[in-house]
Amino acid sequence: MDCIFCKIIKKEIPADTVLENEHAVVFKDINPKAPVHLLVVPRKHIATLNDVKENDEELAGKILLTAKEAAKKEGISESGYRLQINVGEGGGQEVFHLHIHVMGGSE
Ligand code: 5GP
Ligand code: ZN
Repeated sequence: MDCIFCKIIKKEIPADTVLENEHAVVFKDINPKAPVHLLVVPRKHIATLNDVKENDEELAGKILLTAKEAAKKEGISESGYRLQINVGEGGGQEVFHLHIHVMGGSE
C-alpha cells in the first residue's frame, strides 16, 4: 500500500519520532503550523475517522491517551494545546491514514 504514514511506521522513511507504543506512533509534522506540532498515528491503517468501526473502540481511546502523553513529553501539557482531526478532502485531510494533530507551544 502506498501510504506515507504506513511507511513511517515501518521505518521505511524517516521521521522525528516523539514516542511509540503498541497502538500508535507519534512524530513531528514535517510542516509545523505551531511551535510544537505532532501527529498521533495509529499503527493500524484506517483511512479516515469515518472508517473507524465499533471494534476499533480501544484503539480510538488509546490514540487520544497517546496524544495526551505526547503533549506531556513535549512540554506543552501545562501551557495548553489543541487536537485536530481532518476528515476527508472537504475537511482538509491530505494524508488518508487517520491521525490526530497535536498543536501547542508559545507563538
Ligand atoms: P492532514 O491534512 O491529512 O490532516 O495532515 C497531514 C499532515 O501530515 C500535514 O500537516 C503534513 O505537513 C504532514 N505530513 C505530510 N507528509 C509528511 C511526512 O512525510 N512526514 C511528516 N513528518 N509529516 C508529513
Ligand atoms: Zn497507512
